[in-house]
Amino acid sequence: MTPAVQLKSSNLLKKVMRNYFRSLSDAPKIAWCTSVGPAELLRAFGFEVYFPENHGALIGATRKASDYIPASFNLGFSSHVCSYTTSDIGAYIRKETPLEKHYGLQSIPKPDLIVYNTNQCREVQDWFGFFAREFNCPIAGIEPPRHVDQVSKQDIKYVAEQFKAIIPACEKASGQKFDLQKFNHTLQLSAEATLLWQKVLATAKHIPAPFSFFDACIHMGPIVVLRGTGVAKDYYQSLLDELNAYVDKNIGLLNTPHSRIFWDGMPIWGKLRYLSDLFLDNQSVVIASTYCNSWIFEDFDPAKPFESCALAYTKIFINRSENAKMDMLKHWINEFEIEGMIFHDAQTCFNNSNARFGMPQRLKTETGIPTLVIEGDLNDLRFFSEGQSTTKIETFLEQIASREVEYK
Ligand code: SF4
Repeated sequence: MTPAVQLKSSNLLKKVMRNYFRSLSDAPKIAWCTSVGPAELLRAFGFEVYFPENHGALIGATRKASDYIPASFNLGFSSHVCSYTTSDIGAYIRKETPLEKHYGLQSIPKPDLIVYNTNQCREVQDWFGFFAREFNCPIAGIEPPRHVDQVSKQDIKYVAEQFKAIIPACEKASGQKFDLQKFNHTLQLSAEATLLWQKVLATAKHIPAPFSFFDACIHMGPIVVLRGTGVAKDYYQSLLDELNAYVDKNIGLLNTPHSRIFWDGMPIWGKLRYLSDLFLDNQSVVIASTYCNSWIFEDFDPAKPFESCALAYTKIFINRSENAKMDMLKHWINEFEIEGMIFHDAQTCFNNSNARFGMPQRLKTETGIPTLVIEGDLNDLRFFSEGQSTTKIETFLEQIASREVEYK
């Protein structure tokens, strides 16, 4: 189905992402960073910042993961290890990258410094550690308390100290002294971009929704790779203006009644288009997700740069306790008037899969909202059965539609 909304911003997005990747080719200094790592601090030292997870997602979206993953198995990585990790390392071993075809880069950029934050998982430490050994590159990490109920003052102090502790490595690798004003500036830009991203996602609250989770997976590129720059901020202002124009005209992806679905967990990168069409064909829009909300950092505060980064990056959904996650999901169910929840049980990312300890059942009991678990993976499509998933999703959506008729 062709949705009624065709975003013109997609052309601008292509340009923004192309410029970003090309800037990596001639950047004097490059830092690698996890997707919810301290990008603002790195940019304050003048690093151009490269994100291996973004590369992993690109491998997934271009359906090259199955070509690369086996090369990691030969190094001893298990088939149940994060498939971003195994496909990214496999691509490196095979000396290939989708960046060549799409952005003209011969290879991934060589790092001068590698920085990670285990707020999302410990896998990033192993993944980035592999490349630190390969490139004989310095590596520094932030390791906050995991699975927190609430982020305490002690947690903030502890993590803020870890942010400060990576400064010497940044100074040495960049050749620049730490400048608080520059950090305040990149954090201010990041704060503005992230709040615009939040507003972009919030346009899906409108009925009919002009923007879906699958669109957000594409348009989230700049909030991941360009946090701390004016480019990301300008991009989201432009996207927001376009979406608001659709909202004002009451034009949505579907201009007929539709169910409002929430997606928990990782995207299935190689099946974005397929899933987007499947939901639209079944008069449903996936309007919100835990995944895309993960790049909303409301707590960034340039007046307290270290403490506010520590808070913002430690309180992300993936790093919270089961109870805190339940509360956050209930909040989003209310906020987006959700009618059904999909839990994606990604076989190689238990960190971002919440269906394994009864959460879907508990959520259904406590909210009355129907839930469905589908098995799949972010990149490794051997774990995803299109036929089975389609049947499960279609049956689930039919049930939601009939519930709505019953209630009217
Ligand atoms: S959160 Fe999951 S997908 Fe992301 S790097 Fe960690 S294990 Fe991989």
